Amino acid sequence: MVVIDLYVRDKSMVIVGNGCAGAECIKALRESGYSGGIRLLTDSRWSISNPMLTTYYVAGKIGFEGLFPYGASQKFYLKYGVDMYTESPVVALDAEQKVVYAESGLELKYDQCLIATGATPVLPPVEGIGSDRIYTMRTVGDAVRLKEAMTKTPKKALVIGASMVGIKVMELFYKAGVEVCLADLAQHIFPLSAHPECARIVEERLDQKGIKLRFGAGIEKVEETSGGGIRAYLEGSTESEEADLLVMCIGVKANTSFIDRKRVAVDRGILVDGYMRTSMPGLYAAGDVAQGKNLLSGGSEMIGLWNNARYQGRTAGRNMAGKNEFFRGNIPHNITHFMGMDFVGIGNVNDHDRMEKKYDGRRYIQLFWKDGLLTGANFLDSYTESGIIKHALIKGLRHNGSALSDSLPVIQNQLIKNILLEVQRT
Ligand SMILES: Cc1cc2nc3c(=O)[nH]c(=O)nc-3n(C[C@H](O)[C@H](O)[C@H](O)COP(=O)(O)OP(=O)(O)OC[C@H]3O[C@@H](n4cnc5c(N)ncnc54)[C@H](O)[C@@H]3O)c2cc1C
Repeated sequence: MVVIDLYVRDKSMVIVGNGCAGAECIKALRESGYSGGIRLLTDSRWSISNPMLTTYYVAGKIGFEGLFPYGASQKFYLKYGVDMYTESPVVALDAEQKVVYAESGLELKYDQCLIATGATPVLPPVEGIGSDRIYTMRTVGDAVRLKEAMTKTPKKALVIGASMVGIKVMELFYKAGVEVCLADLAQHIFPLSAHPECARIVEERLDQKGIKLRFGAGIEKVEETSGGGIRAYLEGSTESEEADLLVMCIGVKANTSFIDRKRVAVDRGILVDGYMRTSMPGLYAAGDVAQGKNLLSGGSEMIGLWNNARYQGRTAGRNMAGKNEFFRGNIPHNITHFMGMDFVGIGNVNDHDRMEKKYDGRRYIQLFWKDGLLTGANFLDSYTESGIIKHALIKGLRHNGSALSDSLPVIQNQLIKNILLEVQRT
């Protein structure tokens, strides 16, 4: 067993996980003037990858190097003076004694530690789920595996989960000429971010392209077929789905298995404040593993977005270096280009007392208010204004408030303008 507890420079920083949250923390530490030791432990053997790009790699839109937005590990970690321990999953963390334990037997003492271990796709506990004909989409390994499966020219694919990840996986099959069925336990596509009326328009467009859609169809059982494929039995129907391969995209769970929940406060993710501090001194968390503030609800929520992970990682790094940086939080938003359309879902579209919509046959705008305050928005093929609306939503877009007057002059989209003008009048 190797125990490293003596550090010649000032403090010892340990980063667990090399996704964008970990990388941004390292950059921020150095840019804030921290010159001591930084050690990074990761279970992966790859450089810092972007999970968003995995479907693009499988589809052949980017090469293998394209998966790594920060470039090669050696270069990045050399530049920022990081000692890197690859293929070293952390299996325990003693937040009292400030020690991180890796599977390899390595024990690292820290003064300050960032947990940036991201999240892992969830697999439901149903019969047959262990089949190697089932795929997930998150890591470099997942992408390599599915790309390899695509070389066997599958004829039909089943994608379970009709959210951000599932629809990108569905698209890559469609574009490769593979017949595809998209199923979800929910009653419509984008169950968390689309209103049913907006979802219906998306579904009609997918239907026209020949995508088979099944909703209210949670997976009950999976079995391998003698022909090398897979059959899935779906809830609420006697009709099973047979395919050459099945990709499960039903959501993720935070990678917190090594955390002692008696000491570190964990809900669905590790609870953090606006400084990315956990409940234990010297211990920070950022990215998909962390549960920070939802600016809209005021509650604490996991918001699994690339930019959120970047900002949180950066905030943690600056604070670990002794600065006083506050990240006020974020709001859930899903901005996706797929199957020739742009879908935007911002905030909460399921709890409202006023709803306005406009549709010109191509562009669709739907805005939601509760107690006079804008709470959510759905756009189809109108993504350019989504940033303005997101900003207005955070500021508090009241029917007659100043955020509305501020927003109107900068909005080019006539449909949104019309809605806001109508709302202002009434
Ligand atoms: C297909 C897909 C599409 C997406 N599309 C979008 C999008 O359009 N827009 C958007 O904003 N976001 C999107 N996301 C989400 C976005 O990719 C994530 O929010 C972001 O990558 C989170 O970064 P992270 O650093 O927190 O986690 P990760 O990138 O998951 O990094 C975590 C790292 O920790 C390592 N690790 C895990 N456990 C351990 C352990 N025990 N010990 C050591 N290391 C460990 C992992 O190997 C990994 O390297 C998408 C994700 C997917 C999968």
